[in-house]
Formats: sequence, structure tokens, C-alpha cells
Amino acid sequence: MSTDEYRFFRAPVTAIQDLTPSFRRFTFGGDDLAEYGDPGFDQRVKVVFPTAHVGLDSMPRGADWYSRWRELPEHARAPFRTYTTRAVRNDKREVEIDMVSHDVLGPASAWIEGACVGDEVLIYAPTTHATGVSMGVDFVPPRHTESFLLAGDETSAPAIAVILEQLPPDARGVVVLEVPHARDAAYLPRHDGFEYRVAARTGHGRHAHLIAAVRQAAAELVPAGRGAEVEELDDLVWEVPRTAKGGAALKSAPLYAWLAGESAGIKTLRRELVTGHGVDRRAVAFMGYWREGRAEN
Ligand SMILES: Cc1cc2nc3c(=O)[nH]c(=O)nc-3n(C[C@H](O)[C@H](O)[C@H](O)COP(=O)(O)OP(=O)(O)OC[C@H]3O[C@@H](n4cnc5c(N)ncnc54)[C@H](O)[C@@H]3O)c2cc1C
Repeated sequence: MSTDEYRFFRAPVTAIQDLTPSFRRFTFGGDDLAEYGDPGFDQRVKVVFPTAHVGLDSMPRGADWYSRWRELPEHARAPFRTYTTRAVRNDKREVEIDMVSHDVLGPASAWIEGACVGDEVLIYAPTTHATGVSMGVDFVPPRHTESFLLAGDETSAPAIAVILEQLPPDARGVVVLEVPHARDAAYLPRHDGFEYRVAARTGHGRHAHLIAAVRQAAAELVPAGRGAEVEELDDLVWEVPRTAKGGAALKSAPLYAWLAGESAGIKTLRRELVTGHGVDRRAVAFMGYWREGRAEN
């Protein structure tokens, strides 16, 4: 029996549920999922989608799967995209992933639109044998965090949902979320310590609500004269402050911000916090989950 800390899981769809206009929940089942690891928070995984031309069996396995996948001719590569584990129930051999189908079709959104119960994907995820800090978890707040700011677009909502469910009841903060439809606001679970500032995208363009609401939250949450470490920003669209061992970069902070979604918008939010409000960049995790006009791979 394999004791690998990460591996591919064969995951047949056992249920599909439309939660709101944008969020579709896929439940995957099967004995293989008894070993699917659950480090929690925003654990990211890779989902391999079959296409009309390439099946799942063509996906290289083993530790060097990625380099072998890259060596394949493009027409022979099964596409994979990054998603967030929403729930794991090892006892029932079940895993849930909530996926948004967007208007611009890529292999993931095409599959999301057309998938039926019984269809299969592969999920590359940690196993129950994994030990230590998961480097696929990017929510790494200081042990003593006075308040949290969780902000992003619809692709970040599954991660924010798990974070809200797993933070202790005495955690405090603000959630800022921009979604395609007003009814998508119902997606997030409630945490009594958080204020929710969720709005549908309007004619003012992508990120308009996000930027305005993050600016306002920063003005409220960032204590004057604290955490002032202003740095020039470079071209990064992914930075998760950690120690060498993978833990939080700071022991305590007045505010920890977790920002995820479309890259250009996320960069703007981070600039707002770090340059505009002097938030210590070691207390800001920002992740470009996708990039306008660019496929993931
Ligand atoms: C760590 C991480 C966790 C993620 N978790 C989730 C999750 O739990 N649920 C979820 O739904 N998504 C999640 N995403 C986002 C998802 O991986 C991307 O949206 C992905 O690009 C979709 O793949 P695709 O094949 O449909 O489109 P691609 O082939 O990658 O792109 C095709 C075109 O679609 C555009 N595009 C991609 N995504 C979107 C979008 N959301 N809205 C509008 N246009 C888009 C691209 O700019 C490109 O022009 C996550 C991403 C990361 C990095």
C-alpha cells in the first residue's frame, strides 16, 4: 500500500448540486478517497479533466509526473487546473469541490458545464499520510491576530468558506467578496465574528466593489501608526509570508489579510494595504488565482 504524502486520486462524481447561480458543488466518491488528506483552510489541489481527445489514463503518475506531463506533445496532455478542497469525509469516502463555471470557456469550465454523475476526474492532493505543515495551505496567519481581512472574487469563495468554518468562534474580521450574481452572496457560511461585505459585479467593472470595500475595511481595521512597513511592489502575483519551516512569518499582528482572485485585482488590493495603509507585508498573503485572458497552463 502506498504511503506517498501526495498522489493522484481517481474521483468519480457522485452528486452535483447548484448552490447558487455561480457555485456548483461536485461530490466525488469511491474507496480511493479514504486516503485523501485534509490539512484544512485553503488547501489547493490539482484537478485533471478528461477531454474529447485525451483521457485520464494518459496522465503520468509518480513523483516526476509534472516533468513527464510537460514532455508529452500538447495534444496528448490532459489539462489540469487548480481548485480548493471544500470538504473531506474520509469515513464516507467523499470529497467536495465547489467550482465556478465562467463565461470564457477553458477545459475546466467546459467540464463543469457538462459533467454528469459517474464522470471521473483525477485529483492531485495530499494523502492522509502527509505530515507537518502543508505547503498547499496559504492561509498562515500569525498565532496572535487581532483581526482578519479575507477578500477576493468568486474563485476565492470556497477557500474563504473553509477558513470561516475553521477559525475559532472568537476570531474577528471582515470578508469582502465580489461575485457575478447577487444571489451568490448566500454561498458563504456565517461566522458571528465577521462582517460580510459581499456584492455582485456591476457595470463599473471587475474589481470595483473589491477595491472600494477593501479600501474601506483597511481604513477601519489598520490601527494608525502600527505595522508601518511600506515596500515597493514588484511583478509578483503570489506571496505567502512563511518562516523556513512553513509557519507564519510573524508571531502577532493587528491585521492579517488573505487576498485571492484575478491577478490584477489582487495586486491592486495588496498595494492598497501595503503601500496605501502601511500594513506589514509579512501579514499579507496574496494569491493570483487566475489571470484575465490567460489559461492556467
Ligand atoms: C489556489 C487556487 C485555488 C482555486 N480554487 C478554486 C475553486 O475552489 N473554485 C473555482 O471555481 N476556481 C478556483 N480557482 C480558479 C480556477 O483554477 C481558474 O478559474 C481556472 O483558470 C479555470 O480553468 P478553465 O479551464 O475554466 O479556464 P482556463 O483555461 O484556465 O482559462 C481560459 C480563459 O478563461 C479565463 N478565466 C479563467 N478563470 C476565470 C474565471 N473564474 N472567471 C472568468 N474568466 C476566467 C482566463 O482568463 C482565460 O482567458 C482556484 C485557483 C487557484 C490558483
